[in-house]
Amino acid sequence: MKVRLINYTKDPEKIVAQSARLCYSALGIEELREKLSDESIIKLVKKIMKLGHYSVLEHATFTFAIEEISRVTSHQLVRHRLASFSQQSQRYVKINKEGLTFIIPKSIEKNKKLAKIYIDAIKKLDGIYQQLLDYNIEAEDARYILPQAVTTKMIISANARELLHIFKLRCCNRAQWEIRELAMNMLKEVKSIAPTIFENAGPPCVLGSCPEGKLSCGKPWSKNKGEGVNE
Ligand SMILES: Cc1cc2nc3c(=O)[nH]c(=O)nc-3n(C[C@H](O)[C@H](O)[C@H](O)COP(=O)(O)OP(=O)(O)OC[C@H]3O[C@@H](n4cnc5c(N)ncnc54)[C@H](O)[C@@H]3O)c2cc1C
Repeated sequence: MKVRLINYTKDPEKIVAQSARLCYSALGIEELREKLSDESIIKLVKKIMKLGHYSVLEHATFTFAIEEISRVTSHQLVRHRLASFSQQSQRYVKINKEGLTFIIPKSIEKNKKLAKIYIDAIKKLDGIYQQLLDYNIEAEDARYILPQAVTTKMIISANARELLHIFKLRCCNRAQWEIRELAMNMLKEVKSIAPTIFENAGPPCVLGSCPEGKLSCGKPWSKNKGEGVNE
């Protein structure tokens, strides 16, 4: 899996702090921005996060380039309706003979016998896909034979508020391993740019108790033990 932050709002925490201060200040917008010190930005962002006044977080947007994830995971990701997505098309981009790449879950990979069955099955499906193309079947129809394991690439943009929501659901141990790995990588990227906004990002157990009841993994997240590590 490859996850890169390729674009983001300049000074994301400053624009968030500026927007928050604007609501309660008689100062002009530029003057207000100039008066914001690094210290006051952190203080204001912390206050916003504590009070839950999240609408100002929507002024900070982040764009990621994501490669080598399965279509299983891209399908889960696009359920987040407030994010924006562009995904490589299987209608317009044919998979060439050497080109089919796919994800093997570790649970299958670690069992040599099962791994072989899995890989052979995918290769067989790939062979049928290529055969359909050879018979001039359009890629949009030939792709029906492809497995969900096949990799895809996408660009996703989301504002900080939506990213916090995504991290809440997808960094949780209840989420599937691949999207969890993806969300952890995305969190790591944005945390280096906006550390105060994302300080407590992650599943609800970062700050409080788990709402999952009987479905809880029973392993509360420990933010002191490093990025994405659950106790
Ligand atoms: C562990 C796990 C298991 C899952 N299992 C399944 C499953 O079995 N089947 C399945 O179909 N899905 C499943 N999902 C997907 C899940 O149901 C959501 O579709 C997905 O997590 C997106 O969440 P969301 O709708 O809260 O967020 P987003 O679409 O990212 O929206 C963010 C927030 O905006 C608000 N919002 C967005 N759109 C609307 C709207 N139209 N009306 C009102 N408020 C809105 C809501 O407050 C929402 O929480 C699963 C998700 C997880 C994390």
